[in-house]
Formats: sequence, structure tokens, C-alpha cells
Amino acid sequence: MSDLIFSDSFINGEFYKTDTRFSVDDPATEKSIIEVSDIDQTGVQQAINAAHGAFIKLKATNATTRSNVLMRWFELVIQHKQTLAELMTKEQGKPLKEALGEVEYGAGFIKWYAEQAKRSYGDVIPATDDNHRLTSFKQPIGVVAGITPWNFPIAMVTRKVAPAYAAGCSFVLKPSEHTPLCALALAYLADQAGFEQGTFNVLVSENAKMVGELLTESGAVRKFTFTGSTGVGKQLLAQCASTIKRTSMELGGNAPFIIFDNADLDEAVTGLMGAKFRNGGQTCVAANRIFVQRSVLDQVVDKLAKTVTALKVGNGLDDATDIGPLIYPEAKQKVQELVTDAKAKGAVQIGDNVELGGNYQAPVILTDVTPEMDIYHQEVFGPVVSIIAFDEEAEVLALANNVPYGLAAYFYSQDIKQIYRISEALEFGMVGINEGLISNPVAPFGGVKQSGLGREGGHQGLDEYLEEKYVCMKI
Ligand code: ADP
Repeated sequence: MSDLIFSDSFINGEFYKTDTRFSVDDPATEKSIIEVSDIDQTGVQQAINAAHGAFIKLKATNATTRSNVLMRWFELVIQHKQTLAELMTKEQGKPLKEALGEVEYGAGFIKWYAEQAKRSYGDVIPATDDNHRLTSFKQPIGVVAGITPWNFPIAMVTRKVAPAYAAGCSFVLKPSEHTPLCALALAYLADQAGFEQGTFNVLVSENAKMVGELLTESGAVRKFTFTGSTGVGKQLLAQCASTIKRTSMELGGNAPFIIFDNADLDEAVTGLMGAKFRNGGQTCVAANRIFVQRSVLDQVVDKLAKTVTALKVGNGLDDATDIGPLIYPEAKQKVQELVTDAKAKGAVQIGDNVELGGNYQAPVILTDVTPEMDIYHQEVFGPVVSIIAFDEEAEVLALANNVPYGLAAYFYSQDIKQIYRISEALEFGMVGINEGLISNPVAPFGGVKQSGLGREGGHQGLDEYLEEKYVCMKI
């Protein structure tokens, strides 16, 4: 693993050291993995300048050349899959089998955009008179800055950097201070694959506010892309207003997971396990409010309780582990506060409360959850299943939609008319029907309402990094 561990920011093709250092901790042991250097203001400015210089050269390259470089990056990531997965489990905590899955999923974005690089078509527009010819074509926006979270340390990076590079944009990335190691390893492999100097810079910092301000306020940065919490996203969006940057925001969710009485209940419980417990519940598309039609409530709770009991919580490097540690102590504390608040307001916990120590959180099933409880409104970001019973379709639709978020929603039904009705009525950017895992590099990922702006993945993900230029010629 050691050959892909780096401890300094990566700027203009070189590592950039500073004297101020901070520790990246393993959430499983709460011990330091490595001390990394914290970027200073000079370094941030150097990265922006390097990206600007690189952009001038990159925008003159052809799409096939960029596609070939991306394909080499993809191959290198796959070649180092095991090393990257182990690094991810160490700094992020997720079980190694999930980390391996994320490396493949993250690499999938690189491959997809290696292919899509060649498809940024423009238009020939039928003229409205005999003397003009109208066309439009697409050009890279310019320097892109991005800030990513800790829950998917590889996929959240590749799904921004790969389409940006495919479009011809250079990139300055600030990964989460909790998971900078995967981002640095990715940048090193991109460099090896042939990314030109300065096209992919990584700024490691604990001072997110300082880096965020310099990136969002820079006139040289033309596009800003963020994945993280809605609160921080709103702040960054406001900061981008002063330079009218193009923005993409992948923010929080509060996903409903609806089980109708005609559903295949075994499949619904299997789907719920994936949608709830992947990454220990630490995903923005995690099932957050589980609505179960009252006539099948007892059956669902029984099946769920049996399945959840079998889950093994432990160090992600242990083969038997299903749920790793939460990312840091405050995350566990927040989960426990939400559970305590819900129980104080009438929620019922199925089974015993188990305290595992460290950052480990045992799964919890709560029934009788109501909109009066904090857990109903906030992203739990932990292994807690909150169950709400409902009677009528119209009632559950109103409840599901009545939140300021609109990222992912899921429902289980075998009634084809109901499937159409519900998928059209849900006010969410993504809907899983009889499926709990929906993310895919070939499909547009994104939210409505306060869950964000723009789409990542799919052919849509490339357009986020392109400007359309209209050309009107008189002949
Ligand atoms: P989470 O709670 O999941 O860590 P955050 O939105 O706090 O979500 O963090 C996502 C990313 O945003 C991280 O890289 C973090 O460092 C960064 N971040 C947090 N606060 C700020 C801020 N004020 N300005 C810029 N970036 C920030």
C-alpha cells in the first residue's frame, strides 16, 4: 500500500510541502495513519495559476487525445484497485468489499467520460432566411475548482475530474480533510497516465473555509463543483455569486423508502438493507424515512429485525465486517442524539441498545417515528432504520414530498399503474423502483429543491463543464 501514500498537496505536477501538518486518522482505531501538510494561501494561488496555465494548453488538445489519457488513467486505477481500496478503508472506514466496489464504480466514471469526450456534439440550426448560417458548438468552460466529501473518497473525485478533463478543463480539487489520501493517489495515477502538468491539482487542508473562499472568489476559476452538506453548499453558492461562476451542487437528501402492501416483501427488505446500510448509512442517497403500509408493517419489521441482527460491525479490513466505524466521534454522537430524541418523543426501539465503543455504532431499528422527531427531518448518516406506518397512497406521497430536499427516493410495488403514478409524483431527482442501489456512471445523478443543482454522470455530466457558443454567419 505504501507506494500510493502521499502526504503533501499536488500542484503543477509536484508535491507541495508546508510546515503546518495535521493528522489523517483511521476511524476504526482512532489512530493516526499519517501527518499531511496543510496548504497555505500561496499554495492555493499557485494551484489556480497552474490550472490556468494548463487550461490554455489543454483546450487546444483534441478530444481523442484526452480520451486516450483518460483511458490510461482508468487502466491504472483498475491496476491498483486493491491498494486504493485498502487505503480507502484505512482513512474512511468502509468495509474492504465496499471499498473495492467504490474503486470500480469510481473508475467507471473515468471510462465513461473517456468515451463521452468524443461526443460533445454541437448543432447546425436551420436558418430563418437565405443569407445566414447558424451553428453552435461546445467549448470547455475553463479552470474548475471542486470540493468533495469523505463518504466516497474516490468516486466523488472521479465523477467531477473525469468529465472536466474530457471537456478540456483543468481542475483544482480540495478533498475532505478526513480523506485526502485517496485523492492524492488518484492525482498521482492521473499524472502517470499523462495528465499534463497543472491539469489536476489537489489541495490538502484542514482550513476548508480559507481554501473555499480563495477558490470561489477567484476570477480565474470559471466553474465550481461541490458535493457535501446543504448548509455548506448554500454558503459556497453565495460566494460564487461575486464572479458569476457556473456551479454544480450535490447536497443533502432525506430519502423516502416506501413499501406498499402489494410489494414482494423479501425483495423490499433486501433493497432496504442496501439503501440503508451501504457505507454504514453514510450516503446522501441513504434511505432515511422508511414508510411501510400498515397491513404489512409487522411482517416487514420481523424480516428486517432478523436480517439486521446478522450484520457484523467491525474494522473494515476484517473480511466478515458488514458495517465499518462511523467517520469520527461527532458523527456517532449525532446519530445517538437523534435516536435519543426520537425515543423521548415516542419512537420504539426493536431489540436492545448495544454500545460498541470507539466510532462503532450498532444498527438500530425504530418504529412509530413521526414528523415531530428530529430524525424525520435530518439526514441520519448512520445505521438507523426509522419506520413510519401509513394507510393510503395519497397520504404517503404527501409525507414523502413534504421536505425541502429532493435527491433520491425508493419504492417497492408490483402494481404497474401505481408504479407510474408514484414515480411521476415523487419530487426527487432520482427514483429507485424495486431497487435500493441506483447510482451508475452512465446515468444522471442529482437532486431537486435544496438537494442541489446540476447532474453528474450520464451524458449530462459532460455538459456541466462545457459552454455552448452560438455562431451566426452572414453569407
Ligand atoms: P460533511 O458534514 O459530510 O463532512 P461538509 O459539507 O461539512 O459535509 O463537507 C464536505 C466538504 O466541504 C469537505 O471537503 C469539507 O472540508 C468542505 N467544507 C466544509 N466547510 C466548508 C466551508 N466553510 N468552505 C469550504 N468548504 C467547506
